[in-house]
Amino acid sequence: MDAVYLDYAATSFPKPPAVAARMAEYVDRVGVNVNRSVYGPAQQAGMVVLRLRQRLCELFRLNDPTHAVLTPGNTWGLNMLLWGALKPGDHCLVSSMEHNAVMRPLQQLAQGGVEFDRVPCDREGRLDPAVLERMLRPNTRLVLIAHGSNVCGTVQDAEAIGRICAAHGVPFCLDAAQTAGHLPLDFAALGLSALSVPGHKGLMGPQGIGALLLRRDFAERLVPWANGGTGSASDTEFPPPYMPDRFEPGTPNLPGIYGWEAALEYLQSVTVERVRAHDQELTARFLGGVRGLPGVALLGPDSLEGRVGVFSLDFPGQDNAQVAFRLEEEFGILTRCGLHCAPAAHRTLGTFPRGTVRFSLGWFTTVEEVDRAVEAIGAVAKG
Ligand code: PMP
Repeated sequence: MDAVYLDYAATSFPKPPAVAARMAEYVDRVGVNVNRSVYGPAQQAGMVVLRLRQRLCELFRLNDPTHAVLTPGNTWGLNMLLWGALKPGDHCLVSSMEHNAVMRPLQQLAQGGVEFDRVPCDREGRLDPAVLERMLRPNTRLVLIAHGSNVCGTVQDAEAIGRICAAHGVPFCLDAAQTAGHLPLDFAALGLSALSVPGHKGLMGPQGIGALLLRRDFAERLVPWANGGTGSASDTEFPPPYMPDRFEPGTPNLPGIYGWEAALEYLQSVTVERVRAHDQELTARFLGGVRGLPGVALLGPDSLEGRVGVFSLDFPGQDNAQVAFRLEEEFGILTRCGLHCAPAAHRTLGTFPRGTVRFSLGWFTTVEEVDRAVEAIGAVAKG
């Protein structure tokens, strides 16, 4: 029995074939560092780094590759934002659907005097921008929102939130873990000050790399969260003033950079629009399949609009962990059960602490796989 991988919200698999080939090429045949030595191979590797920044700019419509900062992953990017933008006495607004990659640093910051509030979302995980506007305070220095929920796929109205933040002069930042590569995203049109993305989910790259895209004025005010050698401005013991070096200390993840660059080349050739259309087709099929099934409750939006292909199901009367186990054991369906690193989101949806079984789709998911999952859900729901 072939396994059906439905855990794209955790990480995408498989990767486009060129990803592994390019990573192996770097390790086996390139091997050099960048930004330090000036010999030929180092310059060529530097060009791959630049190409990756350019691809990120093309994908997210940012006009300045120096402000596409490469990070060790989305969690790092989010920490860079929170620790770099907030000081004691500052206020931050998040939603009630955030991942612990935001909530854990924020709780730690709160112990040091940073204040924060959660904008309450409804039972579908949706935030009302008008409520967010009312919760802004004179000392609000950051609005940071998960664009798409990793629990139930709800996508927030980032454009409306961006307009409100712009009107109040508050930096608006997006955690696009579940939407980057799944939805077209336009940095300027959304009024963003920062966009944090992981490489390994919808952007189809390897683990251990991500990016933090920054607006120029916001980057100037952001304090580097980590510091170290950059191969530049080596005469000073302070971080260099220029971008992206200021936010990229240490030797970068070059195998990751080579792999991610290849992944983005593939994604750009497919186009995010086609990925989105595929996601919508599969979402319609999944929702149609589970709608009305006895013994199954869908959390989050039961419609195509304002969502991505991440679904949480609750099996009332059954242990959800046992359900996920049976889905794999009996049907080869790979899901994730529990709280998905987002206890706040489950509190909002009313599924804390029992959690849900999450099914999540990606570009390489097929119609047949969705049908197999729906059939298995129907069988397991009978108890
Ligand atoms: N935010 C959200 C909404 C996520 O889904 C995830 C990953 N599950 C993260 C942040 C953290 O991303 P990573 O684990 O790739 O650093």
